[in-house]
Amino acid sequence: MSSAYTNKLMMIDLSHASFEILPVPDALKTNFIGGKGFGAKLLCDMVSPGTDPLSKDNPLIFMTGPLTGTMAPAMRGCVVTKSPLTGIFLDSYFGGSFSPEIKYAGYDGIIIKGQAKKPVFIWINDDHVEIRDARHLWGTNTLEANRLIKTELKDKTIKIATIGQAGEARIPFALICGEYNRQAGRGGAGAVMGSKNLKAIAIKGTKPVLVHDPQRFITACARAFKELEESPDVESFRQAGTAASVEFANETGLLPHKNYQNGTFSKASDLGDKGQSKHLWLGSSACMGCPIRCSKIGAVRTGKYKGIITDIIEYESVALMGANLDISDIRAVAHLVKLCDLYGMDSMSTGNIIGFAMEACEKGLIPSPKGIDLKFGNVAAAEHLIHAIANKKGELGKLLSQGVQKAAQKIAGTAEELAVHTKGLEAPAWGPRGVSGMGLAYMTTDRGGCHQRGFPVSYELSGEWEGHPLDPLSPEDKAQMVVALQNYSAGRDTLVNCDFGSYGIPADTYAELLSAATGQKADTNTLMETGERIWNLVRYFNLAQGLTAQKDILPRRFVEEPLPDGPSKGHRISRDDMDYMRQEYYQLRGWNKKGVPLDKTLNRLGIKYVGPHQ
Ligand code: SF4
Repeated sequence: MSSAYTNKLMMIDLSHASFEILPVPDALKTNFIGGKGFGAKLLCDMVSPGTDPLSKDNPLIFMTGPLTGTMAPAMRGCVVTKSPLTGIFLDSYFGGSFSPEIKYAGYDGIIIKGQAKKPVFIWINDDHVEIRDARHLWGTNTLEANRLIKTELKDKTIKIATIGQAGEARIPFALICGEYNRQAGRGGAGAVMGSKNLKAIAIKGTKPVLVHDPQRFITACARAFKELEESPDVESFRQAGTAASVEFANETGLLPHKNYQNGTFSKASDLGDKGQSKHLWLGSSACMGCPIRCSKIGAVRTGKYKGIITDIIEYESVALMGANLDISDIRAVAHLVKLCDLYGMDSMSTGNIIGFAMEACEKGLIPSPKGIDLKFGNVAAAEHLIHAIANKKGELGKLLSQGVQKAAQKIAGTAEELAVHTKGLEAPAWGPRGVSGMGLAYMTTDRGGCHQRGFPVSYELSGEWEGHPLDPLSPEDKAQMVVALQNYSAGRDTLVNCDFGSYGIPADTYAELLSAATGQKADTNTLMETGERIWNLVRYFNLAQGLTAQKDILPRRFVEEPLPDGPSKGHRISRDDMDYMRQEYYQLRGWNKKGVPLDKTLNRLGIKYVGPHQ
């Protein structure tokens, strides 16, 4: 029976320079669908409590979804591992063309375990697998490594995922770059790759991806394309990408400014789509086969940074490397983000950490590096710190390269009060003080502070959730919304669909695409139920790795310091509000008061995870 699954996983053991093909059990497909689900189950099966994320025992799992590589719109790939930044579960997503190529080579995913003795890269050409010497590539940036591998293999059509110098140096927020501009950015998957002495994976596939019922699948795809076409939200992404969110976040008081001290920035419009279109953009581009085309290709055409070729500076990067650092010159922000991309370092975490350093220096907690005036608004200081962090250079570079949580712990005095993270993952660019549901989502997200595992902001600001009124500032009625959004997000992440696609495509269309492509029964509840199963499995994994309810909290800034500006001026999410939302959330999840899933919850979801909390 044809199916969009290839039913094969490639397992590569770098310690023994060997590989094997594993079958995909039916139960894995039924219970976990693909993508995040496959990755979570495999990670739980492979990683014992206490495993060092940078040891040979932590696998690096590249997963596709069942619809990746088909004509279903806006499908991507993901990387799953134990994060060196947080010490808990990590899933990080990337678009582009690398993940469809995994399917074309004949695999649903690639699992990498062990550690090579010297730098290597993996070359997969359909059934041919080779582990090649990469000593000559070590020390190159992400784009140079990509170019050199294509030259070496004499084929420009090969797709490549690579790390830069930051991954080699095991910076815990190093990323993996898929082709030229699509990163698995958050949580340090690049450091895990570096710890394996793995510079890159190059892949070429020539096999077709079949679907179970072609006519039904074409009809479902046509429906999905039409839904995207008719969605005003999707049209907004097509016109302006996520850059349009800068002015929205500013008007609503959610934009981080000066290490999240404020929620507005007077020069926000310079950083948004208007500023970017004036100074950078030249045309649209897209991940493979995506009709949304949210990306822009551009170049810095004037000024000191003239000549940089750049993608869209998406909202998170421009907010954290621009507004958060009090920098309004979009060309300078393009330069700073490009530096991070070349080193292979998450520009979100890096912007957050530099903002922390600027504030800590202004408050006298750390000194400025020699010859640098470390203060908000200083582009040269930000640039200096990017180089210092990526190369672990100087006292400050070494300190900050550990991530904001550890850096703050090591600075004497009140530095921890300035560190804006949840569970060690630097916060994204949506300050939650005016939207408490977003705060609850940060508190409970499976990979640490993240806005992509449920994004309640639009519901909170519209004042309505499923027909019921919703007060954005109140802690009431938030848990139910956050649980539902998280379950649906985890369910969709089994398909590895782009979040932006879900602004136009509803759950029943995704279910129909899945059914038509694989032959599996799926309806609107399938993604929700599967998402809930994954969420609980990952919770159990995280508890086994040492997570406790004490870490389901917000950073002090959002709890103790009232927002000084914007429409929610004066508001914060108090400890009482946090406690209220957290207990309601645990109860709705079927967890005990310490945030541990109850046996009846695990049994209902069919989860058999044997960990220290049983
Ligand atoms: S919407 Fe943008 S990020 Fe998402 S798949 Fe399409 S081009 Fe890629």
